Amino acid sequence: MLVDMDHFYAACEEIRRPELKGKPVVVGWDPKEGSGRGVVMTCNYEARKYGIRSGMAISKAYKLKPDAIYLPVDFDYYEEKSREVMAILRSKAEDVEQVSIDEAFLDLSGKLHGYEDSLRYAVKLKKEIAAKALLPCSIGIGPNKLIAKMACEEAKPDGIRLVRQEEARDFIKNMPVGNLYGVGRKIGEQLEQIGYRTIGDLAEANIMDLMDRFGSYGIELHNYANAIDESSVHENSEIKSIGRERTFGADTLDEKEIGNAILELSREVIGEVSKAGAVFKTVTLKLRYHDFTEHLKSRSIKPTGSLESLVQNAMQLYRQNPEKAKRIRKIGVRVSGLSDYKKQKKLF
Ligand SMILES: [Mg+2]
Repeated sequence: MLVDMDHFYAACEEIRRPELKGKPVVVGWDPKEGSGRGVVMTCNYEARKYGIRSGMAISKAYKLKPDAIYLPVDFDYYEEKSREVMAILRSKAEDVEQVSIDEAFLDLSGKLHGYEDSLRYAVKLKKEIAAKALLPCSIGIGPNKLIAKMACEEAKPDGIRLVRQEEARDFIKNMPVGNLYGVGRKIGEQLEQIGYRTIGDLAEANIMDLMDRFGSYGIELHNYANAIDESSVHENSEIKSIGRERTFGADTLDEKEIGNAILELSREVIGEVSKAGAVFKTVTLKLRYHDFTEHLKSRSIKPTGSLESLVQNAMQLYRQNPEKAKRIRKIGVRVSGLSDYKKQKKLF
C-alpha cells in the first residue's frame, strides 16, 4: 500500500488557517508581484485549476493567478505534521518505508486476508489520518510497490485505488511509457524515440534490445512494464536533515533567553542525530523576526555528532545576525549533510 498525502504543504497550511479552504493556495518563494525568483513548492487543487503546478517558476504562477494566496515554506511545521502521519502509519504496519516527507509504503501482506480486506483497511486508515492529523491523503493498493504507487497516482486526490495482481498488467499497459514508475523524463523520451510509446509496448519489447541500450536497467524496465517488482518494503534510514524550532512566548532581544533556546534546541537535535547513528556536516540557524521576515544562515564543518560543536556553531551563526535591533519571534537549529557514523569512520 502506498499512502501519499494530497498537496501536503498547502493542506498543512489549511489546518492552521482554515480561512484558506476553498481558495487557491500556493506555497513557495515570494512572488514579489511577478518579479520573484524561485519556484512553487506545492499548491492546492483550487490553484491547479488555474494551471499552477509544483516546480513551476513562482513568477509564472503569479501571472496565471495574481490574487492566489502565496505563502512562504515552513519546513519545520510540515515535518512536525509529517511525523504525526508517519507515527499513525507505523502503528498500523510492521514494515513502513517512508519515501518522502508525505509518502510511505506499508507492507500489509502478512496482516490482511485478501484484497477486499485491504480496501476496508485503507478506508479506515484514511479516516484515521483525517481525524487525527487533519490531512487528506490518497492510497494505492497493489501486489507490489510499483503497482501501489501507480494506483495511488490514479486515486488522487482524496481517493483509494485497488489494483489486483491479475489486473496489474492491463492497468498500466495503455499508459504513456513516461508514466512508468522509476522512469525519468530523459529515459522516457529515449524509449519513445526508439518506438516504445506505451508501457504495453515496452512490456512486449525484446529484452536483448533493452539490455543493449540500457544494460541491467533494461531488465528492470522490462520487469516494471510487466508489472513485476520484487523490491521489499524496508525502513529507510536515510534522513536528510534534523531540525527543531521554538517560538518565544514574547518576541525577544534577550541574549540569555536566546542562548538558552539555542542550547535546548541543539540538545534535542543531537538526541535525534545520535538515535539515527549519524554525523552531520552543516549547521543552519534560522531566525524569524517580529515582522515575520527571516534570516537563514548555514555553515559547513567537519563531520561531527557533538553537542558542543553544534552549540558553538549555532551561537557563532547567531552572532552574525544582521538585524540586531529586530526582536526575534522564532528560532530554529538544523543540521544536514547527515551520513552514517560507521561509514564515516571507515572513510577516515
Ligand atoms: Mg503527496
